[in-house]
Amino acid sequence: DDALVKAVHRIMSHADAKRRLAVRANSDTGTDSARARRFGAQGIGLCRTEHMFLGDRRELVERLILAATPQEREAALAELLPLQRSDFVEIFREMDGLPVTIRLIDPPLHEFLPSLEELAVHVAVAHERGQDAGRDEKLLAAVRRMHEENPMLGLRGVRLGLVIPGLFAMQVRAIVEAAVHRARDGGSPRPEIMVPLVGAVQELETVRTEAERIIAEVVGDSGVEVLVGTMIEVPRAALTAGQIAEAAQFFSFGTNDLTQMAWGFSRDDVEGAFFWRYLELGIFGISPFESIDRDGVGRLVRIAVDEGRAARPDLKLGVCGEHGGDPESVHFFHEVGLDYVSCSPFRVPIARLEAGRAAVESSGSDSR
Ligand code: PEP
Ligand code: MG
Repeated sequence: DDALVKAVHRIMSHADAKRRLAVRANSDTGTDSARARRFGAQGIGLCRTEHMFLGDRRELVERLILAATPQEREAALAELLPLQRSDFVEIFREMDGLPVTIRLIDPPLHEFLPSLEELAVHVAVAHERGQDAGRDEKLLAAVRRMHEENPMLGLRGVRLGLVIPGLFAMQVRAIVEAAVHRARDGGSPRPEIMVPLVGAVQELETVRTEAERIIAEVVGDSGVEVLVGTMIEVPRAALTAGQIAEAAQFFSFGTNDLTQMAWGFSRDDVEGAFFWRYLELGIFGISPFESIDRDGVGRLVRIAVDEGRAARPDLKLGVCGEHGGDPESVHFFHEVGLDYVSCSPFRVPIARLEAGRAAVESSGSDSR
């Protein structure tokens, strides 16, 4: 066993010495971040913040949804701020000295809002018992108003940030305050703030302008440096990457959504519905959600890499969709010249290995 462990270490350090792609992990907790670091992750490529609004914080989210005045909304956000800050303090501690990309909230509303059915039952039961269902009734009306037929193409990501004043600002403040706190404790936090679901540079500009004001105010003389960048996961973002790069210090490809939107396949439904037939017919040999579709989605990635780098030569480029941990896709990301891939903590060793293999295989033939 000892010999095996040594052999694995030898192979891994050989791969690490050869590879050009850095490998980060997707993680939203301190525990996962610590695990990712043990597996050799060189930072966090995607910290999803959606789950941080669930569980016992639901009550605050409901207050946010129900807020009838700006004051009520601001009060709910003010209570969320310290909770968010402590989420990030923990992650910065585990990833000290390494880049941590935190994505502003991107919940498809159906996963995030209280369930319509449950609320309807609560209200009906209260009525039957002659009890007051006032709050649930208001919530039910609000959730009905926000109902969407197609939530994955709806009020998600940057759209939510543009529609709910103060939401992104609260998150930006929490991220930067956490980083400053860490720096004052002698740490070296490297926060990167990422805007999801951008399709137009104007969306990013709006968010960035507000973010930069908050960053300047909170950073003060702490020496903390904060990057602001965007996901590239809407086909239009890939096609207008030259414009978007003017407002972004980094791009991270969200190949899950990019695949969904390039093919017009619903991420949530398609596997069970008809993929079997596509596989049977050989339209693809493996689901494009698992392994990058080089001809279509890959083409969008190449366009965005070329246009992005042309507009901003120091643009940092990574990928944080599921494909970041898929061996075949890692080779593709090496070929197109990304700086890093980001995958689930358990896949970090595989990604390191494949990134090493990709570099060895392409050495001699400059494919960039
Ligand atoms: C993506 O779309 O590839 C991505 C990483 O974001 P999410 O899976 O959270 O939509
Ligand atoms: Mg996405």
